[in-house]
Amino acid sequence: MVDCTFCRIIAKQMPGEIIYEDEEVVAFKDINPQAPVHFLVVPRKHIASVLDIQPEDERLIGRLLLVAKKLTNEIGISTKGFRLVINTGDNAGQNIYHIHIHVLGGRRMTWPPG
Ligand code: 5GP
Ligand code: ZN
Repeated sequence: MVDCTFCRIIAKQMPGEIIYEDEEVVAFKDINPQAPVHFLVVPRKHIASVLDIQPEDERLIGRLLLVAKKLTNEIGISTKGFRLVINTGDNAGQNIYHIHIHVLGGRRMTWPPG
């Protein structure tokens, strides 16, 4: 069993502001928001990073995007636009090795990212 912050939040062994959950996917607010709206969409299954996605995870990874879309609609940031980010590895600044999609919105984003 890996010692993982996001596994603990998903299992409710650690506090987290969960905004959505189903049998496969959980979304919760980022503890250090970088935009007016900033939440994370994660699978319940512990997949460390994009590099660890397996062919059998194809449908699950697709579901992360569908949940992100549904929540941006419900929160009301979808029409103005938002950004999805999956940091992967050291150069990208991945800090938590449980795959997650950052959903950022509610302000204008700049490009290129930092
Ligand atoms: P990464 O840098 O791995 O792409 O993103 C990890 C994200 O998780 C960061 O934005 C960070 O603020 C968030 N985070 C780290 N620890 C916790 C925590 O205990 N609870 C919540 N809700 N978010 C966390
Ligand atoms: Zn985990």
